[in-house]
Amino acid sequence: MLTDPITTYQPLDVGQIAAYVHEQPALRGLLAAGALQVDEVGDGNLNQVFVVRNDPARPGLVLKQSLPWVRVHGRSWPLTLERARREAHAYEIYQHFAAEFIPRYHGFDGERYVIAMEDLADLRVWRTALNAGEPHAGAAEAMGAFVARIAFHTSDFGLPPEERKLQAAASVNPELCRITEDLVLSEPYTEHEHNWHHPALQALADDLRADADVHREIGMLKHRFLTHAEALIHGDLHTGSVMVGDGRVVAIDPEFAFYGPIGFDLGALWANAIIAAARADRLERDATFRAHVAAILPASWSAFRAELGRLWPQRLDRFYTDAFLERWVAHVWRDGLGYAAAEAIRRMIGYAHVSDIETLEEPARSSAAAAVLRAARGLLLERDRIDTPADAWARVADELARSR
Ligand code: ADP
Ligand code: MG
Repeated sequence: MLTDPITTYQPLDVGQIAAYVHEQPALRGLLAAGALQVDEVGDGNLNQVFVVRNDPARPGLVLKQSLPWVRVHGRSWPLTLERARREAHAYEIYQHFAAEFIPRYHGFDGERYVIAMEDLADLRVWRTALNAGEPHAGAAEAMGAFVARIAFHTSDFGLPPEERKLQAAASVNPELCRITEDLVLSEPYTEHEHNWHHPALQALADDLRADADVHREIGMLKHRFLTHAEALIHGDLHTGSVMVGDGRVVAIDPEFAFYGPIGFDLGALWANAIIAAARADRLERDATFRAHVAAILPASWSAFRAELGRLWPQRLDRFYTDAFLERWVAHVWRDGLGYAAAEAIRRMIGYAHVSDIETLEEPARSSAAAAVLRAARGLLLERDRIDTPADAWARVADELARSR
C-alpha cells in the first residue's frame, strides 16, 4: 500500500537529533566527545537546518532535513522530499572540482532525507551582510569562478559526451524545476494569487503584465530554462544561498540543481546585486560600500570568464575553438542578463520577496522596488544590445539615480 508522506512523515525535532547522531558512528566521529547541543537555525522557506555542537563556541555539524511540504506553509503546500537528494547529489558532484566553494559534505541519509555537512559557524549569509552594509572582498569573484567550474566540469567541455548525458539523466529535478518555472518564469507575469506587491507599484506591475514584448522575452527565457541542459547548475544562487566570512565564500542550498542554462546562476547573483544596490542607494550607504555592490556584476563576470579561460585548454573536445568560446560566452552573457531581469522582477511582484527591500521604511521601500523593476525591464528588453558589464550596470545606476 502506498503511504502518503504528508500524513506519515515524522520530521526530526531538536530533541531527537543527539540520538540520531549517536546512532551513526561516521557522524558522531566528526564531533568531540561529550554532550551535544542542538539548535534549529533554518531561516529558509523550505527545510529544517539543525546545528549540532559540543562546544557552543566551536563549529560542529549541520544536518539539513527536507520535509514533504514547504516549511513556511505546512501541509497545505506539499513538496517532494527528494529535494534533499538533489541537494546531496549536487554537493557530491561539486566537491570534486569546487570544494573550496561549498560546505564540506559528510553524506546523505536517504531514509530520513538528511544531509550532513560542515557547520559554517564563522560565516554569515551574504544577503545579511549586504543588508548591514558590510562588504566582503572577493565574494563576487568567488561565485563567478564557482559558476565557471560548474560550467566547465559538468558540461560537454569537461565530460565525455556519453558521461555528460548520463549525468544529466541522473540529475533531473522535475518538482523543483517546476517551482522555478511557475514562481520565477510564469506567475509574476499573470494575475496569480501568489503574487503581491506594494500598492505604489500597481501601475508598474500592470504595465509590465500587459507588455507583449515582456511576455515574449520571458517566454524565451522559460523555454531555454526548460530545454537548455548545459551544466549541473546550482539553480538558486541568490545572495541568501551564499555564506561569507573567515576568508571564505561558500555556496549552500543547491536543492534546485539540475542540467540547465549556465546564465541562470549568474543571473540570480546579478539580480540580487541590483536589489542590494537599490537598498544601499536608498539607505545612502557610503561610497565605498556602494562601489563594492556596483562591482558584483562586473567582478563576477570577469572572474567567470577568467576561470573559464584557465580551464579551456583542458577541454576534452578540441573541435571547440577559442573563437567558439567567445561566441558561447556571449550567449551566456545574454542569458545572464535575461535571468537577472526575471529574478529581480519576481522578487518585486512575485511570491517570494527579499529582506533587502522589505525591511526598508516607506517611501524608500516602494521607491527601491520600483527602481529595481524598471531596471530589470530595461535589461530584459534591451539585452541584445547590452554588450558589457559597464553598460549593464550604467543602466541600473541610471534607474536608481532617476528615481532617487
Ligand atoms: P532552505 O533550503 O530552507 O532555504 P538553506 O540551505 O538556505 O535552507 O539554509 C537555511 C539557513 O540555515 C541559511 O540561511 C543559514 O542561515 C543556515 N545554514 C544552512 N546551512 C548551513 C551551514 N552549513 N552552516 C551554518 N548555517 C547554515
Ligand atoms: Mg532552499
